[in-house]
Amino acid sequence: SEELLRKSEKLAVVGQLAAGVAHEIRNPLTSLKGFIQLLKEGKCNETYFDIIEAELERLNEIVNEFLLLGKPNPTKKTYNHVSEMLQHVVKLLEGQALLHHVTVQCFVDEQLPPLYCDENQLKQVFINIIKNAIEAMPNGGILRIEARQRLDSIFICITDEGCGIPKERMATLGEPFYSTKEKGTGLGLMVSFKIVEAHGGEMKIHSEEGKGTTVCLCFPISSKREG
Ligand code: ADP
Ligand code: MG
Repeated sequence: SEELLRKSEKLAVVGQLAAGVAHEIRNPLTSLKGFIQLLKEGKCNETYFDIIEAELERLNEIVNEFLLLGKPNPTKKTYNHVSEMLQHVVKLLEGQALLHHVTVQCFVDEQLPPLYCDENQLKQVFINIIKNAIEAMPNGGILRIEARQRLDSIFICITDEGCGIPKERMATLGEPFYSTKEKGTGLGLMVSFKIVEAHGGEMKIHSEEGKGTTVCLCFPISSKREG
């Protein structure tokens, strides 16, 4: 019956939400685990304590957000600098990069105009993409982050020298629960696509198996007062 259909649909949504929250919680947990590992190895200095505190705070926020679910349209858009958001995220994932022997190279135009966006959501997109890039390079490599303006858009490209994505899998990227990782959720890209779309932006993925992957984000500057 219709009622039954609605119920099963509801259950599916609840399951997706729960998995999504689990995924969001796993990111800061992985990062904290990295810092603990560094601490154990005596490679963690006091400057990391602020990040550890910030990560714990983020976990707290995620739980709060989960409790507030059901409230429509939680996007909070303000003017934010892409360079500052990227810097913050790179610092956040520094422990993980170190553990993977990944060198991060940033080429960010400091003159970029601010972007009208939800700061936490955009940071989440950067975290998801950069984490994937680090995870794609288990034996180390270079992670290149570029941000520049072209005409009325800001382009952010994140390139890794990792395992790459097989051609036949390119079409399924962004579908929920597609993951090739033992502990993956396959939600990071889906969440990222949704957030980018909600900002009127575009996310494109170029990849060559065995060579590496580039994720390109494009956000319009002119639509800053919308939403
Ligand atoms: P998860 O990271 O939990 O697996 P994601 O949605 O973030 O979920 O990514 C889905 C899948 O896409 C990954 O499991 C991986 O197979 C592939 N992928 C994403 N980014 C990259 C990348 N930079 N290099 C290689 N494969 C990638
Ligand atoms: Mg991921």
